[in-house]
Amino acid sequence: MIIILKENTTEQEIKKLTDFVKSHGLTPHISEGVHQTIMGLVGDTSQIDIESISQLKNVEAVRRIQEPFKNANRKFHPLDTVIKVGNATIGGGSLTLIAGPCSVESEEQIISVARDVKKSGVQILRGGAFKPRTSPYAFQGLREEGIKLLLEAKKDTGLPVVTEIMDLSQLDLFADVDIIQVGTRNMQNFELLKQLGHSGKPVLLKRGLSNTYQELLMSAEYVMAFGNEQVILCERGVRTFETYTRNTLDISAVPALKKLSHLPVIIDPSHAAGIAEFVPSLSMAAVAAGADGLIIEVHNDPAKAKCDGAQSLIPGDFDKLAKKLRILKNAIQEA
Ligand code: PEP
Ligand code: MN
Repeated sequence: MIIILKENTTEQEIKKLTDFVKSHGLTPHISEGVHQTIMGLVGDTSQIDIESISQLKNVEAVRRIQEPFKNANRKFHPLDTVIKVGNATIGGGSLTLIAGPCSVESEEQIISVARDVKKSGVQILRGGAFKPRTSPYAFQGLREEGIKLLLEAKKDTGLPVVTEIMDLSQLDLFADVDIIQVGTRNMQNFELLKQLGHSGKPVLLKRGLSNTYQELLMSAEYVMAFGNEQVILCERGVRTFETYTRNTLDISAVPALKKLSHLPVIIDPSHAAGIAEFVPSLSMAAVAAGADGLIIEVHNDPAKAKCDGAQSLIPGDFDKLAKKLRILKNAIQEA
């Protein structure tokens, strides 16, 4: 971080600022130009509040040189983080497929989809129990019962499971869930993120509708700063001026997040497209871009789905896609 001082700042005022900086455990380095004096701060500036320094009397401007996320930063952790759940691994160059319905609707539904996606080589089963719906009148998920049924599907297939938490009060119900999902709408629920830092379980963190990469990484940083290194970043489409698709898949998120961070990066093409027909193309693009995995909605009867049927693949189409994705992944690895 550097502090640019106002012209005509006196020696005494510089000394005051130097003492202030040192009191935060940082070492100041002064360089005096003809018109301007610059103070470089060496040390951990992640806890320094830029706003409060900017407001000091002799400060012209403050600039951060390094990103404010330390734990998630690839600079301090060059190797990819690899997260293990059951027999599945996420990160480090493999392609992890996560699939299942948007919502758990009944025992028959979740078991049938779980068995089908397992046959297609999926490593992790998804299924929402607590559903964040735009309308309070829409299906809200089976809640506690939904988690129970998802865990039955886990027992039946041996697949680890991921499901979304919407509120801290639900955390006890997640004891046997393998990965806790934090949805788009909760990406900046900082209290929730802190508690998930203590949970010891991998967290699948979805990017907010209009959040930057840095904001996503700062949310990951919350989980990590509170003791949990196992965070999976998920791009699921952001809001743009385009309304033909449900959201706009930001494929740049894959190389950008992988450059900035060592955490695994996966893509959710289902919520990005909102249209099942487009899911295969977006999935292929994600793999080509180097994503560590995909989370895809699959339903045994999309027309009757209680949530997101229009973007859900039927098991047969998902199976074809999974085959194509593996061919693509192998081709990229061989190239
Ligand atoms: C979901 O995965 O079911 C979901 C609600 O996703 P998002 O938070 O990305 O909208
Ligand atoms: Mn959904």
